Amino acid sequence: MRIKIILLITIVFSVVSLFLLSSSKEENHSKSVILIIGDGMGLPIISAYEYYKSEYQKNGFSNFEKFDGSFLVRTRSQDYVITDSAAAATAFATGKKVPNYQVGLIENGKRVPTIMDIAKEEGKSTGIVVECSLTHATPAAFYAFSKSRKDDQFIAQQLIYSNIDVAIGGGLKYFEPLLSNLQKQNYTIIKSEDELYQAIINKKNYERLIAFTASIHPPKYKERKIKLDRKVEYALKILEKNKNGFFLMVEASQIDWFAHDNKLMDEIDEMEDLDRLLSFIFNYKNSKKENDILVLLLADHDCGGLTLVDYKAPYFTPEFKVNYSTTYHTAEHIVGFYSYNSLLKIKPIIDNTEIFQILCNYVKR
Ligand SMILES: [Zn+2]
Repeated sequence: MRIKIILLITIVFSVVSLFLLSSSKEENHSKSVILIIGDGMGLPIISAYEYYKSEYQKNGFSNFEKFDGSFLVRTRSQDYVITDSAAAATAFATGKKVPNYQVGLIENGKRVPTIMDIAKEEGKSTGIVVECSLTHATPAAFYAFSKSRKDDQFIAQQLIYSNIDVAIGGGLKYFEPLLSNLQKQNYTIIKSEDELYQAIINKKNYERLIAFTASIHPPKYKERKIKLDRKVEYALKILEKNKNGFFLMVEASQIDWFAHDNKLMDEIDEMEDLDRLLSFIFNYKNSKKENDILVLLLADHDCGGLTLVDYKAPYFTPEFKVNYSTTYHTAEHIVGFYSYNSLLKIKPIIDNTEIFQILCNYVKR
């Protein structure tokens, strides 16, 4: 008798907990991804920024330490040891190696689906927020194909077919002939940074938005009226409405450009923009505990070959001696960072094409 009662209690308990488990799973099925790319953000500039923030600004270390784990990524493209942003972003977006200067690829007469296309198929919302033209190599690889990354007009036309929910970046010039077409597809079009600023201040809530912050590229960090964190916050307001979750790609685009110019302090400013974004992202993620949000931060490649060489400096200051060894990219592995609610296994060194698989496993419900 006693055994029967214990058995009954066990069964009732199991059924109830199974029910609770399945219902919580039901509610919890929305999986979202925020992929952040620091263009040209090699390990040396991460180091320099951390020294700058902790020793010069006396403001603690970067928000990078809030991630749950990190790993190294091999970056070569199909045809060169040193990749460019087009081939690197295509590897992330499609899982395929392509030659430098190419975004996306065609196989069997069709554009190979990108992670954004797959997110759409899964019923998720998609978005892009960048500090360059929306047609620039990194964002383009997520929605377009072009043998040449420089074919901005051709790339712009393809955004129309991406069915993207929100895009914020420069490039109005290339989209000017397409605006009426975009409006027909129920996009609200914002044409300047000031107009976007007003929309944010007035808490305008749009269904689908394409916001241009510059004719071609937005200015550098200190001249940008709206920093990356505010733009991403605004994009998330649109994306988070979808109960199936979302895929958002954010690029801190200009770290790379100042690395090409060998301008350390401008590079550090762009890192500050990214660091502020991370602070916002972790608060956001924590406030949405019921949602499963994967945050992945990557660089596409190093740029500039920066070394920190001032062996007589007791502290890091803006006068700290550094060497840049090139005005182009370098071949070093880059560091990836991830933050996740449950266990995510990433090997210590992976190829950049493997990022696609990690994203896919997550985007597919
Ligand atoms: Zn570059």
